[in-house]
Amino acid sequence: MLTYSELIQLRDKLVNGEIRIESAQAEYWKDFKEGQKSWDTKDWKERRSIIIKEKCEICSSVDTLTLQHRSHPKKYSEYLRDVTRAFAETYIKTNPDIDRFEFSNFILNKYDYIPVPLCPNCNSTNPNRRVRKLPQYRCTGCRQEFDNPVYKSVDELISNFYENEDSIEVRDKCFISKDTWKNKHSLSNIRYWFQRGRAKSKDAETIEKEAFLLYLNDSIQYLSFDDTITACKKCAFNFDINRMELCPKCKQYYKGLEYPTCIQCLPEEKRKAALESVAFGNDWREMHKELGID
Ligand SMILES: [Zn+2]
Ligand SMILES: [Zn+2]
Ligand SMILES: [Zn+2]
Repeated sequence: MLTYSELIQLRDKLVNGEIRIESAQAEYWKDFKEGQKSWDTKDWKERRSIIIKEKCEICSSVDTLTLQHRSHPKKYSEYLRDVTRAFAETYIKTNPDIDRFEFSNFILNKYDYIPVPLCPNCNSTNPNRRVRKLPQYRCTGCRQEFDNPVYKSVDELISNFYENEDSIEVRDKCFISKDTWKNKHSLSNIRYWFQRGRAKSKDAETIEKEAFLLYLNDSIQYLSFDDTITACKKCAFNFDINRMELCPKCKQYYKGLEYPTCIQCLPEEKRKAALESVAFGNDWREMHKELGID
């Protein structure tokens, strides 16, 4: 795992164009182990010992002090997804028209088509299929009864889509992706993924670089200990597990992170209301326990 200063050097080399994105990634992932914690490293321990305070910054206790991060870095894959999405949006805006031949080839390669049965009389979708009666189908729209529904070919559907992409006929998610995800897509969903793929291959290097830089900056920020606080065992536990911190007014009771003070420090009226609702909650739980529905 790269140290804090090595990470900064790597980031700067990438920003200044002294190193290509592939080499930067290779250098970063080289001895990166999934699940390895940065706090196992010597670099981390040394810098931590300089930054950690003598006592808890929340309650002043000196009992088992830890450095608490207020935020955690996102994964590289999350940055890559976000940046790709943004590039795709721009690409779609500037390239709204797509070649019909390439579009239908894309569909045939990537999707299985499950045609929707249509009424031969009025073309409405999904006529009722009857188990005991003949003819087998009855249209809920025009009430026509028939044995054989009609199906549109992929080509017909694509034609409809090119004529009017908002028409009801092309809204069905009747295409199943051939990959492991087996996603159900409509033609406009497919067009999005088609164009997103285009955007991705056109700007592959720029996208990877932008995402990787965001990720590196996030990791550097995390390793800098900038957004940390020294906390004792009790305060760290309350912060991490209960989302609570010491009340800034009385510095005696804990309060939820979302509240300005603890219940005791609220103005008279609000305190009464809060205490009543806590008591009410307790009564409620008691009652549920007695009734055995807890
Ligand atoms: Zn504390
Ligand atoms: Zn019909
Ligand atoms: Zn208080």
